[in-house]
Amino acid sequence: MIEDKSQERTPLSDLGEFALIDHLTKSLKIKHKSTIKGIGDDAAVIECKTKQIVITTDLLVEGVHFDLSYMPLKHLGYKAVIVNLSDVYAMNATATQITVSIAVSNRFPLEALEELYAGIETAANIYNVDVVGGDTTSSTSGLLISVTAIGEVNKEDVVYRNGAKPNDLLVVTGDLGAAYLGLQVLEREKEVFKVNPKNQPDLDQYSYIIERQLKPEARKDIVKLLKELEVKPTAMIDISDGLSSEIMHLCKQSKLGCDLYENKIPLDPQVISTCEEFKIDSTTIALNGGEDYELLMTIAQEDYPKIKANPNLTVIGYMTEENSGMHLVTRAETKIPITAQGWNALNDQE
Ligand code: ADP
Ligand code: MG
Repeated sequence: MIEDKSQERTPLSDLGEFALIDHLTKSLKIKHKSTIKGIGDDAAVIECKTKQIVITTDLLVEGVHFDLSYMPLKHLGYKAVIVNLSDVYAMNATATQITVSIAVSNRFPLEALEELYAGIETAANIYNVDVVGGDTTSSTSGLLISVTAIGEVNKEDVVYRNGAKPNDLLVVTGDLGAAYLGLQVLEREKEVFKVNPKNQPDLDQYSYIIERQLKPEARKDIVKLLKELEVKPTAMIDISDGLSSEIMHLCKQSKLGCDLYENKIPLDPQVISTCEEFKIDSTTIALNGGEDYELLMTIAQEDYPKIKANPNLTVIGYMTEENSGMHLVTRAETKIPITAQGWNALNDQE
């Protein structure tokens, strides 16, 4: 998955803070004209003439949001950027700059941080964003990484969570549930490894779901696609906490209800087969899994012809009046309420 670059372990204390920052950031390149001043001064300077600016931050904490026993640092750096860019795209905006702040304990050698920054730089290059600053400090235990992403959007293009209207179509990108299932596989292998460290797991049949957990992507392509299709969603959110939670945000903020069709939820074949193996319900996973970083949006009915043939976009339901409530229409055509504990609601059906 990741090459063990070297066995060298240079203590961070050999460098000191300023040399460390220099070392980690020296290969970062500025790509945007709007970045007037990047790393190196008291603050970055960004020029923005006509657009609106979106800003979003996420903080990832070792032991809470990631486990370094199966998350290579390069992937962690990549993912820390992705989770932020996903929020920018959910505003229908283009990401342009990020800042990266880290707190590290002395348990990490320089080589570990080089790996982390290799992942950050890869994501910054692929998604075309400039790393324009950050902060570096020590922590008494573990690693913290906080990324702030900055993006731009034409005033008329910005999409909020609260703009959905009754009868709008509920549309989702990609497929759901894979990242959570990938985590379940990794957790299981970690336990196996504890018992028998010689056991080399064969994870081929889980390649897609593990990749979705360890190397998620943000849907930059969808912002572009929507522009090309000349579709402006009425509301949008990224799926970080599971479909049911995100649908509830859209409904609550737009003051609406919804009908979501179980048989329309897009699932990868590997999600279906792994759910069978784990004896868990795939709908439950899609509703509650999280970390998919797909986009959930509502689209006016009149825009349906523009999206209907597109393999990236799946209609999974529609919005209703608030007093109708939020429902999952099951394969058996019974309606069950969508709750924050969709898990329980589904278990009751079985
Ligand atoms: P200050 O004392 O003003 O906080 P620092 O010495 O912490 O400045 O940072 C110097 C420069 O390096 C600033 O431009 C800052 O944004 C940048 N920087 C610091 N830490 C990081 C980091 N982990 N990643 C990227 N840039 C960083
Ligand atoms: Mg600082």
